[in-house]
Amino acid sequence: MNGARVYVCRPPRYVRSQLLESWYIANAKEQIGCDDLSHPLAIIARLCDYQAMSLLDGILDFNKRFVAEKAYEPFLTNALPNKKLLILTCMDTRLVELLPRAMDFRNGDVKIIKNAGALVTHPFGSVMRSILVAVYSLDVHEIAVVGHHGCGMTGLSCRDILNKALAAGISPDTITMLKHAGIDLERWLVGFDQVQDGVEQSVEMIRTHPLLPKKLPVHGLIMNPETGKLDVVVNGYKS
Ligand SMILES: [Zn+2]
Repeated sequence: MNGARVYVCRPPRYVRSQLLESWYIANAKEQIGCDDLSHPLAIIARLCDYQAMSLLDGILDFNKRFVAEKAYEPFLTNALPNKKLLILTCMDTRLVELLPRAMDFRNGDVKIIKNAGALVTHPFGSVMRSILVAVYSLDVHEIAVVGHHGCGMTGLSCRDILNKALAAGISPDTITMLKHAGIDLERWLVGFDQVQDGVEQSVEMIRTHPLLPKKLPVHGLIMNPETGKLDVVVNGYKS
């Protein structure tokens, strides 16, 4: 056992990341030379590694190996999307791997923009700027907005978010000051009643943008976050 294991009696600082967990298991196997992950030494080694590393340490440690072992090679590609498609989708964790697999995308196939709810909330905000750059400089010929069932932006309450901010130590004076400065928090911190509404709103915002070509197909889709099944809300070839 190495020196780090003397700390095993302290409460471990658990890291829940699946990626790191799988690495730690492999690391534990390496350290004790044992394939039996239920072996007490394997479990102790895992606890020690969890405790010894912050999340960032673990990511950087994994990354060193990733690069050193040239694990990046299967992902080599260029900056232009093979399928000439841009996806605007939600940041939901369930879609991280599911969406590309369910839509048959590999590294290099598409441009992906993610935010909460797959929403375009302002015609001259950062999402639309990214779309313009993709269309005019990065060879994107069509766009798909992909919302999903069970989205956290459904029925988002500005009041709830602000209450949580207050509980986290933000001063009520700060919120009052922002409102007096003309920032309409109720209008900004808003989601949608149903995911279909959010997808249609985003599609419409892109489709009617004055700086985008009128013939650019803009599709609206809704994904099941468990099965990956897609439903078509807007077929951009027909609208
Ligand atoms: Zn979502």
